[in-house]
Amino acid sequence: MNEFSKPIPVADADSATYWEGCREGRLLIQRCSECETLRFPPNRICAACHSDKVKWVEASGKGRVYSWIVVNHPVPREVYGDDVPYAVALIELEEGVRMVSNVIGCDPHAIAADMSVEVVFESGGEGVVLPKFQPMAG
Ligand SMILES: [Zn+2]
Repeated sequence: MNEFSKPIPVADADSATYWEGCREGRLLIQRCSECETLRFPPNRICAACHSDKVKWVEASGKGRVYSWIVVNHPVPREVYGDDVPYAVALIELEEGVRMVSNVIGCDPHAIAADMSVEVVFESGGEGVVLPKFQPMAG
């Protein structure tokens, strides 16, 4: 690992199942076992009813672009200089939860609000697999 490598997510007790799902090509979100509220990111306690009983469900992987930015000026340049321009987006899954990710597979300047996207999984290095989103085919 060099001094300027990209940060890699570190799984904790709450998110380990989520990251394992990504390695299997499955986008997992939590559903409260008491009140059925879906939630993301992974959390020990339901914000709606405070229950700690949870089950994992597989999301469809389909969603829409809720908001986004296009990064043109990489910081730090040593790490992200080869990636620009790239898009960081808030994706609203069709299940209703939102997650921060990247939109790939298109000109980042062509991204539009409500654009339909679907998940794809990419290696993030060191055994980590990251969910990213690409424009829906067709
Ligand atoms: Zn709940």
